[in-house]
Amino acid sequence: MSITLSDAAAVQASSATRTSHGAAVGTYSLSSLLTCGGCDRRLQPSRTAAGERVYLFLCGCRWQAIDAGLVERVVRDRVEAASVALVAGAAASDLGPVFRSLFVEVRVGADVAALTYRWRI
Ligand SMILES: [Zn+2]
Repeated sequence: MSITLSDAAAVQASSATRTSHGAAVGTYSLSSLLTCGGCDRRLQPSRTAAGERVYLFLCGCRWQAIDAGLVERVVRDRVEAASVALVAGAAASDLGPVFRSLFVEVRVGADVAALTYRWRI
């Protein structure tokens, strides 16, 4: 498999819309990828009142939001374990297209550390 720069740029451009909360979707590199392990529904990128980036379980399976930086780092580490070249030198804002090209979804189980990856390849 390969990821070209033009592919990444195209995906990034198309994802530059904004949520109702005013946060750029592009800053949530796992938006549209994280799903609830309990019911398969998508998690919602959001911010806490304090301005921290989080992913919310709108389904109600869990009440506690996931720290966005934490789960994005866990997924990045997983990708890096598979191939350092894929994420080497990538800024946090560049990871979304990389993640979306690699994964169909990332399921969140009982714990942020207990992620289940569905790879495209
Ligand atoms: Zn759920």
